[in-house]
Amino acid sequence: AEIAIGARFGPQDDQYEIGKQLGHGAASQVFSCRRLRDGEELAVKTVDLRRLCLLGDMQEQLGRLDSEVGILQELHHERIVNLQSFHKSENWYFLIMELVGGGELFDVIVRNKSLNEMEARHIFMQLLEGVGYMHSRGVIHRDLKPENILVASSRPHADGQLYDVKIADFGLSKAIGGGASLARTRVGTPQYWAPEVLDVQKRGGSYDQAADFWGLGAVLFVMLCGRYPFDGQKQPLDDQIRTASYCMSGSRWRGISEAAKSLVRGLLRVNPVDRLSLEECLNHPWVTGQPMLPKTHL
Ligand code: ADP
Ligand code: MG
Repeated sequence: AEIAIGARFGPQDDQYEIGKQLGHGAASQVFSCRRLRDGEELAVKTVDLRRLCLLGDMQEQLGRLDSEVGILQELHHERIVNLQSFHKSENWYFLIMELVGGGELFDVIVRNKSLNEMEARHIFMQLLEGVGYMHSRGVIHRDLKPENILVASSRPHADGQLYDVKIADFGLSKAIGGGASLARTRVGTPQYWAPEVLDVQKRGGSYDQAADFWGLGAVLFVMLCGRYPFDGQKQPLDDQIRTASYCMSGSRWRGISEAAKSLVRGLLRVNPVDRLSLEECLNHPWVTGQPMLPKTHL
């Protein structure tokens, strides 16, 4: 049966009813749903297993889904979408999650053209909390982008809007063993790929948590100016990323503080070793609100 409003799924003794569609990804459709036993409103990511094989090797795709479930089951944090349970039927895979009602950060940025620095900082600090937590649990997200950051709620503030966000979509994330960086596959969304991710197969190398700081840099860039740092327009996308050729001049960057730009620069560094760490982000003047030291001291 197809998934449609009113359709039911789940085990006999714990059924759910599908509501309106909330979003979709390459292999998934996400709906609101209601748990019949208590009427709780939740979200469900549905994956059509018959369509999944069109996206590549079936076993690999299924492995990814299992890994997404496995990783989410281990993560419990206010800034990370909470998995409630999951259910497999013959043709469908259901990930039942908390409902994050405010839509994608992507749409908030598009609607507003860009966010002001206070708004961006409020979100960025929450992302640092979430990313810090997952890294401390040995999980790299690898697909941080405004489409995978969901708005839980927002409230007005004298200087703008305070958006509370949660990180979603652990479909490409990776659990790494203590200390060693074992992530060797090229995954993610091209616009946000870190250079070492682009080249990982060619160099046979590996990469680690630093890839998420590149992602955070790209998200920060988009929040501040409403454009992708790398768009493949004037140069091929891969070349732009490998050389970190992004531009922070022009009218969209006018009036944006030097501190904000310096944080973007520190995150979008080609070599993962040079990239800012969690600690360095937390101590960065743009995050702490401390005045920037004169350039010669940086
Ligand atoms: P994919 O792995 O296919 O990209 P995602 O997990 O990113 O799937 O979900 C696709 C979209 O569905 C998201 O970008 C978002 O718009 C919406 N979505 C996902 N999870 C939730 C949720 N828990 N609450 C509300 N909307 C969600
Ligand atoms: Mg997604």
